Amino acid sequence: MKTATDGIVIWEVKTGEADRVITLLTPGGLVTAYARGSLKPGGRLTGTTAMLSYSNFELASGKNMYTVTDATSQNRFLRIYAQADRYSLAVYFCELMKYLAPTEEDSSAFLSLLLNSLYLLDEDLKPAWQIKAVFELALMTLAGYMPDVDSCSRCGSDESREGVFFDPLEAAWICSDCLSKEGRIANYQFPVIAAVRYVVHSDIRKAFSFSLSGDACRQFSRLSEDYVLAHLERKPRTLEFYNIIQ
Ligand SMILES: [Zn+2]
Repeated sequence: MKTATDGIVIWEVKTGEADRVITLLTPGGLVTAYARGSLKPGGRLTGTTAMLSYSNFELASGKNMYTVTDATSQNRFLRIYAQADRYSLAVYFCELMKYLAPTEEDSSAFLSLLLNSLYLLDEDLKPAWQIKAVFELALMTLAGYMPDVDSCSRCGSDESREGVFFDPLEAAWICSDCLSKEGRIANYQFPVIAAVRYVVHSDIRKAFSFSLSGDACRQFSRLSEDYVLAHLERKPRTLEFYNIIQ
């Protein structure tokens, strides 16, 4: 049986002489497919089944997995390929999607998060730290790990006069008044928590539209990465690679 779907290649494994097994993120979930001859230079499927290629795929169902019979390219994000730091960040996004996006379930929100993030990276429209942190927080939220950042976990206040304490494992924060009562110290500026709150409650097309400055940028990056690592069962290898390149 043949089926057609839009999808983006989020993983590839070389197999056989010149073939690839690819993982696609489609609006209907993750799909694994065999792309015969796709590593041959100039082959019919070579470009459309490469990492980050967003295409319309024609798939034939087989015993264990689909086979790609045809593909029409929609976007290949080729400018990302030209910069090692951006490419390694994009591949990290793909690895997280591989772990967190569902199979055979509506994944259109996951797909639009990835496509929006890659578009911003490709067009250089936002700084990489911001694209990375928003992607991480929005993805964790979609995957059911939304942090509870609306109010202080002790007193319920939605603001803080000074710095707050955020615990990535508990996914909650404590305001400065409650911290001083408990004799504890802050680890984040409050505007960082306000930015996290904005991202997790925003539509993905608006989630990148905020600004932070100075140390708050670094804190926001640290919080989002720590948050992913606290809730993911394994440390993504592509993240280590990205951080080395940085
Ligand atoms: Zn409080």
